[in-house]
Amino acid sequence: MTDCIFCKIVKGEIPSYKVYEDDKALAFLDIGPVNKGHTLIIPKEHHETVLDMPDELLAHISIITKKIAKGVMQGMEVKGFNIVQNNFKVSGQIIPHYHIHIIPRLEDDGLKTWPQGEYKENEAEEIVKKIKNSI
Ligand code: AMP
Ligand code: ZN
Repeated sequence: MTDCIFCKIVKGEIPSYKVYEDDKALAFLDIGPVNKGHTLIIPKEHHETVLDMPDELLAHISIITKKIAKGVMQGMEVKGFNIVQNNFKVSGQIIPHYHIHIIPRLEDDGLKTWPQGEYKENEAEEIVKKIKNSI
């Protein structure tokens, strides 16, 4: 896609700090890291969300995510990381080219994961029905 920043990175039209590349995928440092070493993994082909990703490509990205996450963890000498993948604007997806974030975590980085809610009586059963019927 001509207007897509990540497609431009793939084509070499925009510079990036690459940490991994193969024929189908690229991984590079996020320009605005949550923590140092925050890495993005993208397919070279333009697909907007996980729902658009061909299964085979998704499987490949999954496999290399494991390998790259291990490299981020060891290279950055951290004890853990988050894997985050936003889909659609409402989720916080800014760049509409599928990507996975690997965010190295430090014990004192002050980041919190999700706030947690709760279900009212019978609500979980209703929600299970809605989701199950849509899968
Ligand atoms: P998301 O909110 O999941 O769409 O995340 C997009 C991420 O892309 C953000 O964390 C940005 O900091 C990052 N980003 C945007 N432009 C660039 C760029 N040119 N090089 C590296 N990372 C970028
Ligand atoms: Zn793109």
